[in-house]
This record gives sequence, C-alpha cells and structure tokens, in this order.
Amino acid sequence: TVYSFASGPSALPREVVAELASDVAGYGGSELSALELPFSEGMFSDVLAEAERDLRALLGVPPNYRILFLQGGASAQFALLPMNLAGRGRHCEYVLGGHWSRRAAAEASRAADVWVVASGDGCSLPDPKSWRRSSDAAYCHYTTNETADGLQFHALPDPSDVPLVSDMTADLLTRVLSVERFGLIYASAQKNLGAAGLTLVIVREDLLGRARQDIPSPFDYTRQAEAGSKINTPPTFAVLVAHRMLRWLRNNGGVAAAENRSKAKCATLHEVIDSDDFYRCPASLPHRSRINVCFRVSSPRAEELFLDEAKANGLVHLNGHRDVGGLRASLYNGVSEEAVDALAAFMTDFKRRRG
Ligand code: PLP
Repeated sequence: TVYSFASGPSALPREVVAELASDVAGYGGSELSALELPFSEGMFSDVLAEAERDLRALLGVPPNYRILFLQGGASAQFALLPMNLAGRGRHCEYVLGGHWSRRAAAEASRAADVWVVASGDGCSLPDPKSWRRSSDAAYCHYTTNETADGLQFHALPDPSDVPLVSDMTADLLTRVLSVERFGLIYASAQKNLGAAGLTLVIVREDLLGRARQDIPSPFDYTRQAEAGSKINTPPTFAVLVAHRMLRWLRNNGGVAAAENRSKAKCATLHEVIDSDDFYRCPASLPHRSRINVCFRVSSPRAEELFLDEAKANGLVHLNGHRDVGGLRASLYNGVSEEAVDALAAFMTDFKRRRG
C-alpha cells in the first residue's frame, strides 16, 4: 500500500477514487464519460447544483452568501480579491502569518493599497487581538492555515465592520465554521475537496457589485454569481470530484466528524513527535496546524534518510515546502487514519533505529 501525505493535490478516499473511475468509464449509467459532459446541459447542471447544496448543508452557508465555482486556483484569487472588493480605491488589510499570506499580500499590492496589520515570526501567528485594524478598509485578509509553515489560527478574530476575507485552501471542511463571521472565503479544491482546477469562492451578497470596471468577466465575482459560475466553461471534472467528495463527507458524519478525524490524526503524529527530542516541531504549541504537521530531525542528512526510508515503506511526499525545508505530513480530509497510523509506526521505528 502506498500512502500520500502530499501538501497538494491530496490523497483522496479510495472509495471516491473508485466512484470517479466508474464516472469516467460511463457517467450515470450512460456510455458518455464524465469527461464528456457539456457544461450547459442537464447532467452537469445537476452535479453543480448538488455540489452547492451539499456544501451549503455541510458548512451551514447562510442564504445571503453566493457560492462560485471558479478556475485559477487560490493564487488567482490573491489578485482578484482587490480587483473585486476594493474597486473604489479603498485600502486592503493583510495579516502576514506565513508563506501563503505573504504571497497573497504581494499579489494584491499590484492591484490595491495593501496595509500590513500584523506579522508572524515563522513559528507563531499574531494574536487577532493585536491586529492593527482600521474601520474603513475594503476588507481584512488572513490565511487560516499556513500550509508551508505548519501554522493554523484556531480562534476567529473578533467581529468588526470591515469584512473578513480568508484563504481556507488548506482547512476548509476540516473543522466546524461560522461562515457568517466572514465576508468572503476562498479555497482551491485540491486539498480537502478533490482535484486541482476548481476554486471555491463563498461571498456575502452585499460585497458583490464593487468590482473594478476593467476586470475580465470570468474573474468578476458579480457576473459569475449572476451566471451561476458559467460565464465560460467551468472545470467540469473538478466540480464532479468536489461533488463526490462532498457526498463522501456527508456520508461520513459531516464536518463535525471531519474535525474529530482531523484532531485524531494530528494527535497521533504529535504523540510520536513530542515523546522525546528526536523529532522537533518548529510551530509553537497554540498555533500548530492540525492539517500540515511540520517536523524536523537532527540534520538535513537524517531528513534525507527519513524520506528515503519512508518512501521504501510506501509513505510518500513527506518533504517540507521548498522554501522551508524539513519534513511535513499533510493530513487533509482524504488522508485516512490507517495512513497516519502507518506513518506514526514508521516514525517510531525510525527513531528506534536511528536515535
Ligand atoms: N493558499 C494556501 C493556503 C495554499 O496552501 C496554497 C497551495 O498550497 C495556495 C494558496 C495556492 O493554491 P493554488 O496553487 O491552487 O493557486
């Protein structure tokens, strides 16, 4: 058995992969492959509608929020957020907690006036109470889970009149969420929700209609909301994968159960990491990510050995982010508890032999 702990695209539940294989062979009992579904016709419209319905039910998305199924990844949203939300020249606030929020702010600064309201130190995140927020920003952006750094905000910032905008690419649908606390939530799908190519944007209706005039239509949230995400061809297969993943989540206890599984998987690894000094987790305890468990062993050479031996044992993609180094196990929704148990057993054995 091979288990992937990739930071993305993530492992998927094997039953979802099997279902998709059958969808590709012939969708819905027909001779047409799921890859051949025209986006403007009934079958795909049903997939999109069911995906939206399940997402609303799973996350408790209030009726005054629109859900967009877009392309371009979270990285495209980095630039599109200010173009859509700060059209009247207002400044945008950014919390820099790690690699991905820095990328988001850098990209946004090409389109808008970006004010950094708080920064982390690489091992911990700035307490939301310390963010220097103003009352007249277009929005305040933060990244709930820093995938590269292994850091996660576990508490929500206090409510304010400035809409909170959040990149939840790494932890959407892994924990119970109060969507109404956010103006906009966005996430690439390839971590907790299936395949690359789809980006979700969940936006409160009153934030629509603020886009710059020169924004291309496929990137205009308002126009995409009006067109049911079909201004141009949506990523049909990635939407189907999301639909299958959402149904799997629903059949497996919903988001509350996903949160419990996420906590259990992370605890299994930290039990090994924290048992002595052999492994070390750079993230400070209150900000440790439940999704991306980053850890080190004594030297780069020992880390190479760890990766080689893990791979030989069927445990793959455990390397840290290229800018951060070290080791990392990403524990998205599709990563099974058996996979994590196998990794924990390997880590214990590696320590026994090399410690
Ligand atoms: N934001 C976060 C938190 C991520 O982890 C990633 C990818 O790892 C991205 C954004 C970028 O996503 P994409 O490559 O889909 O643009």
